[in-house]
Amino acid sequence: MVTGTASTQDDLRRLNRARLLRRLHEVGAARRSDLVAFSGLNRSTVGVLVSELAEAGLVTEAAGLPGQVGRPSLRVQPVPESAVVIAFDLKVESTIVALVGLGGGELWRRELRHERTDYAPAEAIRSVLSLIRQALRRAPEGAAWVGVGVGVPGVVDHADGLVRLAPNLGWADVPLGQMLRSALESEYGCVPHVSVSNDADLGALAEHVRGVGVQARNVIYLSGEVGIGGGVIIDGRPMLGAGGFGGEVGHMVVNPQGIECRCGARGCWETEIGRDALVRAARLRDEDASVSDVIAAAAADSKPARAAIDSAGQWLGLGLANLVNVFNPEVIVLGGHLRLVYPLVSSTVLRQVQLAMPAAREQARVEVPALNADSTLFGAAEAAFEGLLADPMAVIAASVHATAS
Ligand SMILES: [Zn+2]
Repeated sequence: MVTGTASTQDDLRRLNRARLLRRLHEVGAARRSDLVAFSGLNRSTVGVLVSELAEAGLVTEAAGLPGQVGRPSLRVQPVPESAVVIAFDLKVESTIVALVGLGGGELWRRELRHERTDYAPAEAIRSVLSLIRQALRRAPEGAAWVGVGVGVPGVVDHADGLVRLAPNLGWADVPLGQMLRSALESEYGCVPHVSVSNDADLGALAEHVRGVGVQARNVIYLSGEVGIGGGVIIDGRPMLGAGGFGGEVGHMVVNPQGIECRCGARGCWETEIGRDALVRAARLRDEDASVSDVIAAAAADSKPARAAIDSAGQWLGLGLANLVNVFNPEVIVLGGHLRLVYPLVSSTVLRQVQLAMPAAREQARVEVPALNADSTLFGAAEAAFEGLLADPMAVIAASVHATAS
């Protein structure tokens, strides 16, 4: 008979096992003594928990480095080939997919271009399924397939993956999470952990776990794509808002005299610093030109292109000053095309940030992503690992073998 105490002890053991695996996944190899210090558990408990993770194939233990003073502590490391997830960054004009192993390393990736105006949800699901098949063929032999994570440039209900509104994809109320789960169920007969999230929320997560926000508790990530998305981490946790729709800073109204936004309002921040704003102001002939094209035109001395970048710098700095006042972040990460624009306008941006209240602005730094263009992709991988990291043993026991497909 399972008593209340036994069940509590089991829960505690499960929680501690999960904490150790999460630590190893996020920071990589560690000495057993580091895990003891990190967890506050005693040596023998850590030893037992690590052995259980090793039996499940998730970690390996090797002797510590020779030449250390005293008894060498065993070195524990995650096994990237033991468990994999498939991560997607679903952009307006392309889909990027990666197979990612435990520990966060990329094992394989592919990018598919598609038409901006023609990406219906059913087509997106077909494309995602085809890429999942390709990714699974590249998975290491015997790997457990434990999750799928998808980043979408829109407002997403985290609980069930309902895309409420992705104006730049032309999607409204698309139950993407549910569609993906049913498609996986009918193809594989079982479903790993599925997560569908806002692209900027995932960018914030990845930069917080593995990028320029590692030491910070308060991080804002801006994704500069066709639109501008925002992900906010407050005191180490994602700020979701009542319905999970918080952080849509691209739709802060900054210019009442500005142009109409796809969301229906006028003068949103993204109508001044989004991709389309830059391309329009640079007067490039090709409507599908990229921000890189604008930057190249500016470098070739196009006056409108230079003015477009200068204006984006002004509006970017103004918006950042507001974010600094509202959220008091330690780091603001400029992702997507903002990563390319910022180095050209950093002095303008930082001058505008001076408009923020001194106490808050002194604590804020503006950075480009450590993960370059891949913050959302790696954030999607982190979200996909969430099931395994919450309860490693149960997920491994129930998981699909990637190569069995
Ligand atoms: Zn808007």
